[in-house]
Amino acid sequence: MKRALAGLVILGSTLTFHAASPIAYRLSFPEPQHRWMQVEAVFPELGSAPLELRMSRASPGRYSLHDFAKNVYDVHAFAAGGRELTTTRPDPYGWSVGGHDGSVTVKYKVYGDRVDGTYLAVDTTHAHINMPAAIMWGRGLDDRPATVTFVPPPGVRWSVATQLHTGASPLEFTAPNLQYLMDSPSEFGPIAVRQFTVGPRTFRFSVHHTGTDAELDGYVKDVEKIVRQEGEIFGEYPEYEPGNYTFLADYLPWANGDGMEHRNSTVITAPGSIAASRGDLLDTVAHEFFHCWNVERIRPKGLEPFDFDRANISGELWLAEGFTQYYGPLTLQRARLVDIASTAETIGRLIETVAGEPGRLVRSAEEMSRMASFIDGGRTIDRTNWSNTVISYYPFGGAIALALDLTLRERSDGRVSLDDFMRSMWRKYGKPGGSREGYVDHPYGIEDAEATLAEVSGDRGFAREFFSRYVQGHEIADYARLLSRAGFTVRKRNPGRAWLGDLHLDSRGGARVAALVAPTWPIYSAGLDQDDDLQQVDGQRIHNSGDVASALARRKPGDTVAVVFVDRTGAARTARVTLAEDPDLEVVPDEQGGTLTAAQKTFRDRWLGAK
Ligand SMILES: [Zn+2]
Repeated sequence: MKRALAGLVILGSTLTFHAASPIAYRLSFPEPQHRWMQVEAVFPELGSAPLELRMSRASPGRYSLHDFAKNVYDVHAFAAGGRELTTTRPDPYGWSVGGHDGSVTVKYKVYGDRVDGTYLAVDTTHAHINMPAAIMWGRGLDDRPATVTFVPPPGVRWSVATQLHTGASPLEFTAPNLQYLMDSPSEFGPIAVRQFTVGPRTFRFSVHHTGTDAELDGYVKDVEKIVRQEGEIFGEYPEYEPGNYTFLADYLPWANGDGMEHRNSTVITAPGSIAASRGDLLDTVAHEFFHCWNVERIRPKGLEPFDFDRANISGELWLAEGFTQYYGPLTLQRARLVDIASTAETIGRLIETVAGEPGRLVRSAEEMSRMASFIDGGRTIDRTNWSNTVISYYPFGGAIALALDLTLRERSDGRVSLDDFMRSMWRKYGKPGGSREGYVDHPYGIEDAEATLAEVSGDRGFAREFFSRYVQGHEIADYARLLSRAGFTVRKRNPGRAWLGDLHLDSRGGARVAALVAPTWPIYSAGLDQDDDLQQVDGQRIHNSGDVASALARRKPGDTVAVVFVDRTGAARTARVTLAEDPDLEVVPDEQGGTLTAAQKTFRDRWLGAK
């Protein structure tokens, strides 16, 4: 790769390159009410081998398999002169076209009815297109440029929002190669667009929604605050290849809630409106925009380049997604879009997930990241025991980010923070960019993240210990001590309350245990598990979880109670369970019922104050 590039530099001034002809896609919508799209794609200059047409199995930013070929039908291929060619199916995900004369035109329909960041959605109001769900590509043609022409339904005026490069007309666009094309979702419909600039960069907010212009104007002002605060963390914005960054929002009653990052854009979809769900929508904006650095350019090795034929695996999603999960709400706080009580609640939920769920004892954050292809949009028919063995790398990584940020601040007296770590990762791995548009030349591995922490903290031993305990190990940081520095108290939500576990009971026809029993709950020792029928606790008949609470109300932690149940084979069982104290945690700002010390106030302002 390096050698080939050197050759380009030497010869570049004297040779005119013969750029391969682009693959030309035409996307039309003759019957949008029936939710399918007509695709026509011309593949010129092919040579003599059969053309292998593929539908993607994966989509950038989603880690499970989606097998987009399932919605493709009415596939026909033609030679340059219009002669129909025979297609064969070498596997479920593609079509092979032989006997052509160097050019193939393929025509097919693809059905799509899900508005989110992964799929295709067509209806009379718009076409919402995630390229891997819609576009057939040719194997071996990754470096070919593409043109994409959008054709609206008969008699309708729609416009396009996309990170694709503008082309010869308002409905024509280009992509330099397959990686970039696939990374470029497009919204084709009656979009409203607002634009703002920060320094040299332009940001476009495109939305398809049911709200008013005034709501949108006010909302985009808040989006700008988020963009500014996140820019301060890194000290600069990436050089967006089309010359700007585009938010592609669909706030529609029939949309699914989602956010999906891309290099120069993000798709944000929600069933809620700006008026009704503003806080949640801004939270997604803050998360997704952070990704234009973290994941899109500060990119884990396992995701680069993205493989459209298989699930992509990365052991770094605790950083790529988890740290982003941490920075979203932190940015809302710094931008004064949420109050301190809400931030305390968010922090509490992060800690609660890692402290309260048993999965941490089974898999480290690095190992959880590698589970992504099964849990991120994956489907299973068989039962799993994931509620006992898996914690999402989003909150897990978010809790690690919280611990690392506070630890760096504590040990440097506020001079070094997680912002410095992110900026350093950006300068080493993100900013150098790619030799080709749509690629990252210096993706990182977990060892690079550890080395960067060693540099930023000035302490290799600290970096090794932090990674081995909290990222690759099973320990949990001392959040109570760390948060007390910033004037927050971590405490039991229900102190003194007797507890045998957070049983999920289905009261239809008894009190059936409707979810797994965790090994960290006292009642696990009784042998009770999913599908068993809980009959009595401490002599009281149980019909629902309220009955369990009232049976335990007379008891205190350390007491022993009898539990009677019938297991799913019909066998009656009795066991004695020693009650624990309800481990539920909450995080409370110290000014609720007290005052902050000057040191706490300084620490908190440096952390949560506007940058
Ligand atoms: Zn994300």
